[in-house]
Amino acid sequence: MAGEKTVLVVGGGISGITAAVEAAEAGCKVILVEKQPYLGGRVARMNKYFPKLCPPTCGLEINFKRIRKNPDITVYTLANVESVSGSSGAYTATIKINPRYVEDHAATSKCVDDCPADISNEFNYGMDKCKAVRLPYEMAFPMSLVADAEALRAVNGSELGAFMDSCESRGIRIDLHAQPETFKVDVSSVIWATGWVPYDATKLDKLGFGKFANVITNVMMERLANVGGPTAGHIVRPSDGKKVNNLAFVQCAGSRDENHLPYCSSICCLASLKQATYLRDYNPEAQAHIFYIDLRAYGRFEYFFDRVRNDEKILLTKGKIVNIFEDPVTKDVIVEGEDIMSGEKIRRAFDMVVLATGMQPTTSIDKIPTAGVEYDEFGFLVSDQGIHAAGVTKRPMDVGTCLQDATGAALKALQDTLGR
Ligand SMILES: Cc1cc2nc3c(=O)[nH]c(=O)nc-3n(C[C@H](O)[C@H](O)[C@H](O)COP(=O)(O)OP(=O)(O)OC[C@H]3O[C@@H](n4cnc5c(N)ncnc54)[C@H](O)[C@@H]3O)c2cc1C
Repeated sequence: MAGEKTVLVVGGGISGITAAVEAAEAGCKVILVEKQPYLGGRVARMNKYFPKLCPPTCGLEINFKRIRKNPDITVYTLANVESVSGSSGAYTATIKINPRYVEDHAATSKCVDDCPADISNEFNYGMDKCKAVRLPYEMAFPMSLVADAEALRAVNGSELGAFMDSCESRGIRIDLHAQPETFKVDVSSVIWATGWVPYDATKLDKLGFGKFANVITNVMMERLANVGGPTAGHIVRPSDGKKVNNLAFVQCAGSRDENHLPYCSSICCLASLKQATYLRDYNPEAQAHIFYIDLRAYGRFEYFFDRVRNDEKILLTKGKIVNIFEDPVTKDVIVEGEDIMSGEKIRRAFDMVVLATGMQPTTSIDKIPTAGVEYDEFGFLVSDQGIHAAGVTKRPMDVGTCLQDATGAALKALQDTLGR
């Protein structure tokens, strides 16, 4: 299968999608492999992009259209690469595609309401539940249902049978016996764009995540503010649904810390500034308080920082938060630390706290299945020769930089392809 002038792109986030469309539009065949049931990666789960504060779905939709229009791009979702062998210009990769367990012949994509099994909604970072047969999200690409076979198998036989019959009558076929498919492809170049995972906030034992309901992380805040999120965009407390009037952001939660992520993820300050505007737009009475060590708004983002800090209800304190407690009666969250400028102690109660956790490279956990790949001390891919890294696989970066970086990776892939 495939062969000369074929580029394999692993990871269908904004970086992988960009690399795929750029390589294909320059004349290559492209195989794009994504492990989730949908393309878009982390940005599909964002509410808005800094600095323009536009919804990421616009940019994603333009790219999905480029993929739909281009017969030279083959997309495999629910897929991963099990092995890669060879060298620049001639690789063989083994791809495994996991089953969706559901085919929607009527293309209705709405078989969810009467599904008898609920699962934790991974798209919303587990903040709510969704049906075991579902469309991953409203703008998903591909616009196809996916089923959680394990959750369906746990439903009692007659109830499951009735549900499957009802689906069948609507042109939707569920096959819980579907098997994974594995095959090999020959390609001339490989781009690795598997991105990042949010740093595991449960490891920050003094900051209360997982212990106190009203301590959430920055990626959860993106979903909380989004109309497709667990509260349909209402910024309310997880403990009691109360409107948030008083929100704290704790910067560098686990970042620039030898015991956790020693590096700066570079975008967390901008993400919190952006999320403070979500709160202010939603509730004009509300106040957001950002506790930071250094506020980093690099390059052109300085203008965004200036714009946000002019809001008198967005407060900035140079202070390190070291402990977070819960008031057991009110469920308010109390932050404790030190004001770096005055040297005074900080002790303040908030309705809710957002931990600004950093980006950990996926390749620090899930290594590339081939020999001879070089990683830096944090697990980011070092890519000079051979497999090319694109986007956050290489280092923390914002979306605009990912687009440039992935276009560069596509050019490297073209060189591999044409040079042989
Ligand atoms: C809280 C927060 C807010 C942010 N807000 C903004 C913003 O407003 N503006 C901005 O410019 N940037 C923002 N960013 C940064 C932005 O999220 C990243 O720049 C972007 O996600 C990087 O895209 P990527 O494609 O490199 O990685 P990802 O988005 O992580 O995509 C990687 C893809 O690879 C897939 N994958 C992983 N492993 C495998 C595997 N083994 N096989 C196949 N597929 C795999 C994943 O499922 C995913 O789809 C924010 C970051 C955070 C933490």
